[in-house]
Amino acid sequence: MILRLFVPALLVATLLASCGDRSSPPSTPPTTTQLPVQPPAAATTLAPAGKATGPAEFGGQRTLDQIEQLAGAIGPRVAGSQAETRAADYIASQFRADGYDVQIEPFSYSGDLFRAASVTSGGSTVDANAMSGSTGGTVTAPATFVGLADEAGIGGRSLAGKVAVSDRGTLTFQQKYDAVKAAGAVGLIVVNNVDGVFVGNIYKRAEMPVVGVTTADGAALKKAAESGAAVSITAPASEQSTAKNVVARPAQGAKCDILVGGHYDTVPGTPGALDNASGAAATLELARAFAADGLDAGLCFAAFSAEESGLFGSAALVKQMQDSGQLPRYMVNLDMAGLGARVDLFGSGELTAQAAGLAARMGIAAAPAELGLTFGSDHQSFQKAGVPVIFFASNELGKLHTPGDVVSDIQVDSLERVGDLAFAYIGELLKTIARG
Ligand SMILES: [Zn+2]
Repeated sequence: MILRLFVPALLVATLLASCGDRSSPPSTPPTTTQLPVQPPAAATTLAPAGKATGPAEFGGQRTLDQIEQLAGAIGPRVAGSQAETRAADYIASQFRADGYDVQIEPFSYSGDLFRAASVTSGGSTVDANAMSGSTGGTVTAPATFVGLADEAGIGGRSLAGKVAVSDRGTLTFQQKYDAVKAAGAVGLIVVNNVDGVFVGNIYKRAEMPVVGVTTADGAALKKAAESGAAVSITAPASEQSTAKNVVARPAQGAKCDILVGGHYDTVPGTPGALDNASGAAATLELARAFAADGLDAGLCFAAFSAEESGLFGSAALVKQMQDSGQLPRYMVNLDMAGLGARVDLFGSGELTAQAAGLAARMGIAAAPAELGLTFGSDHQSFQKAGVPVIFFASNELGKLHTPGDVVSDIQVDSLERVGDLAFAYIGELLKTIARG
């Protein structure tokens, strides 16, 4: 789920703290190495590696087990991060084990929100988040600790040719940036002062990479800074982030009459159990359940990335399908599928009415609903292209976009309501297609 009109909660504190400083930037050129602009890597095709097992029906507990893999074992999965790659590889392995032909499809997008960066020190690399306004590129330089990046922390030193490592707090990110930049620093790493990760803003465009790291990862960097060891910061340019969709087809290059999917990326700092390991896991379980009695021609599945940055993964797949003249006839979206007693049905009126009728016959509490302008999800990319869409969701938002969106809050019966209904409804769509 993406929040459209409201900035995510993680950003609010920094926005409030950093407003009101919009003077124009100085004209000195950036000191960092810009990453060359290049098209995203080609898709990786992975052959089937097994056959689906288990019953040809949706299983809530099996879905919960998959949520545990994504949200528990892997954790936050920010588009473009190392964790995102681990999640994509895991999802691909599950589709392959059920007999699908799988493609991992990298795509590029422009976006300043949730840019996955990294910091390398002493041979180990940790995930970081580029602040909005940070340049892209890689800078490698000796690290130096500057406290809060206030006068006491910098102490009148020249930071020329150094990467400044600062604690979060007291000053705005803009003020920290301005202070270390004025002293000559070539990069800035801000270490969180509370658990988890954060996303900050530099309102004047920065002229060097500026990233945030967790308290735990920052402790190692502060140690490196004590001895003046070199650190590397790498951040994508805001106009060139890359992330990966995972697409499963019944055979290589098969046309997708029905595309079932859900996003697997998260905003920074949340395990994203409900948003949206639940929908990605339900997608995997539906793929397994449909494959259990043989693969269905025309039925494809996808796990999207960069949903939280602006529905970029689904938009990339729509473009690719449009370019090859193979848009699906129907798209089924699963986002936030495991909390609450009712199933909400969003999307095209005809489809949501059919699904509501089916739910009534199955004894499942479900009703068409309006998403409103505040929320968005991947079905909208397909809807924009004229594809009839239906989006199945459970009716509670839980601890959306916070560290509290954890696996232990997920309800198996809620997963089953959404999954049983989606399974039955996709079955109806397959019959409709078979009739021609
Ligand atoms: Zn979300």
